[in-house]
Amino acid sequence: MKKAIITGVAGQDGSYLSELLISKGYRVYGISRRKSVNHRNPNIKKILDNERFTLIDGDLTDPTLMSRLIMDIKPHEFYNLGAQSHVGYSFKNPVDAFRTNAESVIMHLSLIQQLSPYTRYYQASTSEILGGVNCPNEGYDENFLPHPRSPYAVAKTAAHFAVKNYREAYGLYCCSGILFNHSSVRRGLDFATRKITNGVAKVKLGYQNSLKMGNLSAFRDEGCSKDYVDAMWRMLNQDRYHKSTPNDYIVSTGSGATIEEMFKYVCDLADLNFNDVYELDERFIRPSDVPYLLGNSSKIRSELNWEPIYTWKTLLKEMYESDYNQLINI
Ligand code: NDP
Repeated sequence: MKKAIITGVAGQDGSYLSELLISKGYRVYGISRRKSVNHRNPNIKKILDNERFTLIDGDLTDPTLMSRLIMDIKPHEFYNLGAQSHVGYSFKNPVDAFRTNAESVIMHLSLIQQLSPYTRYYQASTSEILGGVNCPNEGYDENFLPHPRSPYAVAKTAAHFAVKNYREAYGLYCCSGILFNHSSVRRGLDFATRKITNGVAKVKLGYQNSLKMGNLSAFRDEGCSKDYVDAMWRMLNQDRYHKSTPNDYIVSTGSGATIEEMFKYVCDLADLNFNDVYELDERFIRPSDVPYLLGNSSKIRSELNWEPIYTWKTLLKEMYESDYNQLINI
């Protein structure tokens, strides 16, 4: 039986990936801080009682815990999805972002190299490292020059290159998935898409009058977490696709919209007027923003047969309906 460790298991991607791996017959060891499990229990309640799932209470930045787990479990696969994952928050806590999102990755890779060199490592890299200032018309591919524009992106860029370095220097099987924005009904409420679907549902039901947001002009290539965790698994199982060399891949839908267009679309679903719902709140404006992110994922599509099912519209519809149905029952 294959064994996998997942950090950030109570998060959006961690919970969907656990379900995917369990459905494929893996034994999964999910790491989460105690408070996240309480806070986000709905995300992992489906798998908590599964006999092939073990919840480990702990912090991915703790070298003692991580060395014990890697040594004892010797996992076939290690998915590092835990992160200080909010770009806006990283401006307020940049050192925390660097420790969690960059230093820990180097620590994990170094422990794997010493204690379990056959473990395959997946790093949750991000389109934020691209900067979005000079996005090519056809979207960013893997031959990009990084241009991080937040402490979050600076840390993720360091981690991204650490993965490349451990692959080249020590021959580790490690990959970075350069994932573009993705959401789901399990997305945190402080991220734009979920904030919109949840906020519009609350306005529709009369629980609040408006939705306060910052700059809406940013363009995002937006996909669904359920599609994207499948891409992660394919990256660590390339042998199935007649490839044996680990590599980094862009994961994106290849289409998207501005946050304003997404907001208007959800207002249309709710039969509300966008101008009545949106309220500008300067507090949400960031010191530097990433204006335009479109991804060209032709490499993972052709090499690993990956294909997303959701578009940003089908995704937002599912999220809005889920939020509306949950809220109406309160
Ligand atoms: P989430 O924020 O939903 O999940 C991240 C999880 O990591 C949270 O449960 C968080 O718990 C946990 N975590 C944070 N710090 C630690 C720590 N020190 N020890 C243990 N757990 C910790 O993010 P997603 O699931 O959406 O994203 C997964 C990964 O993919 C992240 O690394 C993110 O940066 C990256 N990514 C996400 C994209 C997206 O659009 N969703 C795009 C590209 C990359 P807590 O609640 O305690 O903070």
